[in-house]
Amino acid sequence: MTALPGASPLLRDVFGFDAFRPGQEEIVDAVTAGENVLAIMPTGGGKSLCFQLPALIREGVTVVISPLIALMRDQVRGLQEAGVAAGALTSGNTQEETDAVWEALEAGRLKLLYMAPERLASGAAMGMLRRIGVSMIAVDEAHCVSQWGHDFRPDYLRIGELRQALDVPLAAFTATADAETRDEIVQKLFEGEPPRSFLRGFDRPNIHLAFAAKNGPRQQILSFAAARKGQSGIVYCGTRAKTEALAKAMRDDGHVACHYHGGMQAEDRRLVETRFAREDGLIVVATVAFGMGIDKPDIRWVAHADLPKSIESYYQEIGRAGRDGAPAETMTLFGSDDIRLRRSQIDEGLAPPERRAADHARLNSLLGLAEALYCRRKNLLGYFGEEAEPCGHCDLCDTPANVFDGTTAVRKALSAILRTEEWFGSGHLIDILVGNETDKVRARRHDQLSVYGCGGEYDKRQWQVVFRQMMGHDLVRPNPERHGALQMTAAALPVLKGEAEISLRKDSIKTASRRPAVKA
Ligand code: ADP
Ligand code: ZN
Repeated sequence: MTALPGASPLLRDVFGFDAFRPGQEEIVDAVTAGENVLAIMPTGGGKSLCFQLPALIREGVTVVISPLIALMRDQVRGLQEAGVAAGALTSGNTQEETDAVWEALEAGRLKLLYMAPERLASGAAMGMLRRIGVSMIAVDEAHCVSQWGHDFRPDYLRIGELRQALDVPLAAFTATADAETRDEIVQKLFEGEPPRSFLRGFDRPNIHLAFAAKNGPRQQILSFAAARKGQSGIVYCGTRAKTEALAKAMRDDGHVACHYHGGMQAEDRRLVETRFAREDGLIVVATVAFGMGIDKPDIRWVAHADLPKSIESYYQEIGRAGRDGAPAETMTLFGSDDIRLRRSQIDEGLAPPERRAADHARLNSLLGLAEALYCRRKNLLGYFGEEAEPCGHCDLCDTPANVFDGTTAVRKALSAILRTEEWFGSGHLIDILVGNETDKVRARRHDQLSVYGCGGEYDKRQWQVVFRQMMGHDLVRPNPERHGALQMTAAALPVLKGEAEISLRKDSIKTASRRPAVKA
């Protein structure tokens, strides 16, 4: 349920995200409503959004206490680029910067004020905060208040006083979740007014995860549904037209099914929503327009007839299944048509270049998950910063992939990345590997490299699959700051040096050459 109609357009328009990450929405709702909140989320889980978005909805200024100047400056810059009035008061400021922040504050223009905890020691800052109409306090890295932790910052102890002096709600965030630290945060920051706590890992163990390459996709979906006849399920499609056609095919196959998309009359949509909530065994074939506000606990399965747009969307969409905790199943189809479609949607969108690069990177992570060799859940949770053991409850744990030793191919690809100093995407790297003398290759003299033409064992499409699988192994990552150029991770070094071997999936390399080309 989305309590706040304002949240989701802001999510898209200001932050450029198409879905909340696991756990974010509940926290955003609580913080916006002015509750005292303690949120424990894994690193990389997206904590900053949980106070930045509420700060935009609430009246007045949100004060953000954060221990790291570099982090503050990063966030302030990001917010300013997104058009949000944010500023920081830190010891790293120039006098002009500080003056500008004070001026904006006095004029009531600022939405977010970042402050180092040391600032709270000065009476002037306290007085100023009292005057300017602070609407809430957000505390990043809240474990710094704890003497148990290794990051203890004595000035964090003043935050409790600040909260009491200003009498405003406080939201505290940390990735460190041990019980002692948690107790100490509650005691030091929320004295007398215990917060609502959000402690959630991302795992949804009752949901079975599976991906399949498209191979007669309509039949794949129909077979999946046929094996689950009478159960409530959702099929997500990439286009409106497809929802209608597939819903009809479902009905022809004996299911109770209807379609749902944003182009329908509001009352028709409401009808589907109500039926889905009340009836057992209804299948809704829908675009992503179906989801917000759907609170049905016993959705037994979710299938994707087309690849979702990012790993966050994937997680959110499959996460609608099995809210009751009973077993639920998912299946996500992917094909090169999806990849092309998603790439061009990003490229042709109106987003600024940095955001486009970030969107490509998020799509790549989803492709890595689709091409994964080992446990999907471990891969998925890893993306959200959580460590996990192989789950025993996904398609790859059920049936290990058919693999071969791809070390030589991977090493060639890594050398190409290394020799071109991590400045290029897979398209150009593949031109180098197969010895394709393009203008770009010639202009950069990449035909002079020792790796030029060393990859003749595969064609371009097969190399694309190798690169996708390398992403699945997290050997390379697209660097959004370099327009998605591939960058090696620490895991790539042992492979380059011949100290580690890499397995690749046989099936997808073999079939790749028979499929249409994919864009990097
Ligand atoms: P942390 O929890 O470690 O403080 P951040 O707030 O820095 O995490 O977010 C980690 C990354 O996740 C950032 O790159 C941010 O842009 C991205 N992110 C946060 N929320 C979302 C979302 N809803 N969809 C996609 N990316 C997101
Ligand atoms: Zn698994």
